[in-house]
Amino acid sequence: MTTGESIPSGARFRVGGVDLTVVNDGEFAMDAGATFGIVPRLLWEREAPPMDVRYRIPLGLNCLLLRSRGKTILIETGIGGKPGDRDTATPAEQGTLLTSLAALDVAPEDIDIVVNTHLHADHCGWNTSASAEGALAPTFPNATYVINGAEWEAATHPNERTRATYLARNLDPIADRLTLVEGEHAITDEVIFVPAPGHSAGHSAVAIRSGQDEALYLGDLAQHRVQLERTAWVSAFDLMPLVSMDTKRRLMDEAIDRGSLIVFCHGDYPGAGRMTRTPQGFRKWVVEPPIGQGNEPHDHGAGPHTHA
Ligand SMILES: [Zn+2]
Repeated sequence: MTTGESIPSGARFRVGGVDLTVVNDGEFAMDAGATFGIVPRLLWEREAPPMDVRYRIPLGLNCLLLRSRGKTILIETGIGGKPGDRDTATPAEQGTLLTSLAALDVAPEDIDIVVNTHLHADHCGWNTSASAEGALAPTFPNATYVINGAEWEAATHPNERTRATYLARNLDPIADRLTLVEGEHAITDEVIFVPAPGHSAGHSAVAIRSGQDEALYLGDLAQHRVQLERTAWVSAFDLMPLVSMDTKRRLMDEAIDRGSLIVFCHGDYPGAGRMTRTPQGFRKWVVEPPIGQGNEPHDHGAGPHTHA
């Protein structure tokens, strides 16, 4: 599970009395045109990182670890490390989520609750692991898995469009450990699973609320921060693009009003920032530095592409 290059992980943030740590499953390369959907290349090229020789851009795999009310909670499990999980070529060949957790002294047995925003293969890969003989088992043996019920139904009955990303190997071994929820659901009184449909019908986000503070984990509401700024910039992966736009507008307006910390899966590591509004009324993403790295909450100046 070692890789040639060192994968940054462990960035910390605080929301009221709750500590959040970004645990990194590496990075993966995704087709740039598909990531930006119907937006013309002339427009997205100015915003996106450089493409590789196969016209792909790097996307982050930021998962979130937190403790709330005595529970250790892992939000999202990356692409995974089973045979086939990382065929789309990434710098982290086997995935780094487990080594990222181990660096924090967190063993798989310590995780009480896993939350999947949805069940596309790049968000739930480490739900399960394979033995040397190929036998599949839940990676986190003591965890229950919190998932939207409609998402589970869609993932276990994939259609021609969704078959390539809803993979039985990430799902079947956890089928007896599910907490399937409908609508808004309090995982603890501080950690709330909230509907965020559009990417898929059952796609959800996670709000972490403590005192006056809020953080939002956005799952796949966007794959690049410019898509959070511009409502109509929706990826080709979203099954319900018009619904995505409504969800995005609503969640971003709320995040601006509340000053919420935002973490999203595919942002440049650690994928954290705050949404602001310019005097002209446009949304603008501002990178949030982690604790210990110049994190005075509103003292920023870093551009949108800070690679740790
Ligand atoms: Zn994704």
